[in-house]
Amino acid sequence: MNSASPGGTTPPKPPPLMGGLPAPPYPPGPRRWFADFAWIPPRGVCRDVLIEADGDRFTSVTPSAAPSASDAEHLRGLTLPGFANAHSHAFHRALRGTTQADRGTFWTWRERMYQVAGQLDPDTYLALARAVYAEMALAGITCVGEFHYVHHQPDGKPYADPNAMGRALIQAAAEAGLRITLLDTCYLTGGLDQNGVLPLAGPQVRFSDGDGSRWADRAEALGPDDRGLLAPHAMVGAAIHSVRAVPPEHMHPVVAWASRRGAPLHIHMSEQRAENETCRAVYGVSPARLLYDEDVLGPRTTVVHATHVSSADLELLGGSQVYACLCPTTERDLGDGLAPARPLAAAGCTLTLGSDSHAVIDILEEARGVEYAERLARRSRGHFTAETLLQAATTAGHTSLGWPDAGQIAPGARADLVTVSLDSLRTAGAPDGVALETAVFAASAADIGTVISGGRDVVRDGVHLLVPDVPAELARTIRAALDPAPSRPRPS
Ligand SMILES: [Zn+2]
Repeated sequence: MNSASPGGTTPPKPPPLMGGLPAPPYPPGPRRWFADFAWIPPRGVCRDVLIEADGDRFTSVTPSAAPSASDAEHLRGLTLPGFANAHSHAFHRALRGTTQADRGTFWTWRERMYQVAGQLDPDTYLALARAVYAEMALAGITCVGEFHYVHHQPDGKPYADPNAMGRALIQAAAEAGLRITLLDTCYLTGGLDQNGVLPLAGPQVRFSDGDGSRWADRAEALGPDDRGLLAPHAMVGAAIHSVRAVPPEHMHPVVAWASRRGAPLHIHMSEQRAENETCRAVYGVSPARLLYDEDVLGPRTTVVHATHVSSADLELLGGSQVYACLCPTTERDLGDGLAPARPLAAAGCTLTLGSDSHAVIDILEEARGVEYAERLARRSRGHFTAETLLQAATTAGHTSLGWPDAGQIAPGARADLVTVSLDSLRTAGAPDGVALETAVFAASAADIGTVISGGRDVVRDGVHLLVPDVPAELARTIRAALDPAPSRPRPS
């Protein structure tokens, strides 16, 4: 890890983290940056912004600063807060490209995904996730919500540490320079059909704790402190996989645990029409109604996708003040349908963004995907401003993951910064007044130059400082996940 402080002095070593995890770099000392342009709501994009931080927090933000502040580090282009990726399954990254050769469906894609899930162990998952999170950092993501359900050994027996897989993800995030909310997921059944609940089958058996109460016991054994922290960079949240995977009677222990902990609670909901149809057949109501009746919906809840929802569902979701996490690149990749972003927002849901299956990892692409889906659905433009889309990618995303003090460049907030080039092949020529629109509608992850997470440099000039060769690590670890060889990669 690059732990050099800006002043070149050697700070003292930090204490070890809880749970025996390796410590991330110690908090940096005071730092100053001078940004050509920075987005500072509600003022919008400001010019010549002096940004100061001490440790992992901003201490002051001064627009129109004198150029004499040039002793500060220069941030070229447009500076934004770090992005929150509110919905990730790290191991799905291994499927990119492999599921495009045959036409397939969501359900055949899911079978391939299960095969990869069956190959992982704590060591290989650490190596794979570290590479995937490094790819995220290169895309400007400073916080990930990892919707994690590969808990146990392939035959369903717990590891010696029943949370070995979750801890591997937490360590991977530390090594890649991200914060993580481990959305520990309850996953108990194999699905629904018209006749009822299906048993777990094949690779699914390693997802299950047996029942909701035992899920809660294992989540508690992760050892969160009274703020839900597992380490300075890691928080625990709860997740119910879906109405397909958790019968209503088992939802209550998860909801109760999240409520007692004040933790985020995430759930996949109505991604496919088939889920709605089988939910109606078995339970007589829509997924949204079922979740409402089981007290799953509330202001700490995120429903992921919400692609196929009725006006009655929208009323329940908006009235419950949930977050709706949209994953446009995954939804279009899997042929899910167009998420009803505008109706969800109009109903009172707060939108967030996730790269989910990692068909691509590019939060700017997710952000404009929300607007473009509305344009295609309604054949008209202008449903969400660039600023609104960026709020989904920053403040809203972080808050939905339990980090309400992140996602904005403001005194007291976590010192996460991302720069977007305004003179790249994709962005050159844009007048000053449309920097934000250029970033959201034309830039890509390739235009991210600098990433600072909690005051620490993670990416500089488009190069990850903690993971030396991210493409090579992705190639090696994905090969191991797709085609496990006798000598599996070990984490370095
Ligand atoms: Zn998902």
